[in-house]
Amino acid sequence: MRKGEFKPINLCFAQKVYWEGGTLRQVAKVFCVDRNTVQSRFKKFKIPIKSMSEGKKHCYRNGGRYLDTKGYIYVLKPDHPNTTKSGYIREHVFIASQVLGKPLPEGVVVHHHNEIPSYNKNSNLVICENDIYHRYLHVRMRALEACGDVKWRKCWICRKWDDPKNLYKNDSTYRHSSCYNNYRRNAA
Ligand SMILES: [Zn+2]
Ligand SMILES: [Zn+2]
Repeated sequence: MRKGEFKPINLCFAQKVYWEGGTLRQVAKVFCVDRNTVQSRFKKFKIPIKSMSEGKKHCYRNGGRYLDTKGYIYVLKPDHPNTTKSGYIREHVFIASQVLGKPLPEGVVVHHHNEIPSYNKNSNLVICENDIYHRYLHVRMRALEACGDVKWRKCWICRKWDDPKNLYKNDSTYRHSSCYNNYRRNAA
């Protein structure tokens, strides 16, 4: 890009990328410009830029909305029963309770289907009645990703995924009997 050339940036989209956890550098990449171009354009159009100190605490706080460092969006809802002491509530919790039509019962966990914590579209949220079920979902997702079968589990010794009928379950871990025998023999 020549210096001084005005490359159009869809600021609405740029803001969204930035807002949903992106950095100036990532935004720049999307529009094939450099980071400084994005920064100056943001300044020109009065789009707030995450400050270093605020970035540590909250990435961005504006109009009762901010993104925390773990990537969760918080919204200001001081009257909501599920709100935190600060008056802010995680946006996905808020949306899930709207869908449910009541506050979320204690212990309920809201899972992000695509595992992007700021992607709070209805269709991306799964209400889990407790954390056990929530973790179970994650285990099934890992299995699906790793071997294509949600039911398979990983042997903690050989690290291979297998049908649970070939595995021995101990608490929440799985192992092949043969792997365990080898393991014990080597440990002895
Ligand atoms: Zn989850
Ligand atoms: Zn094994």
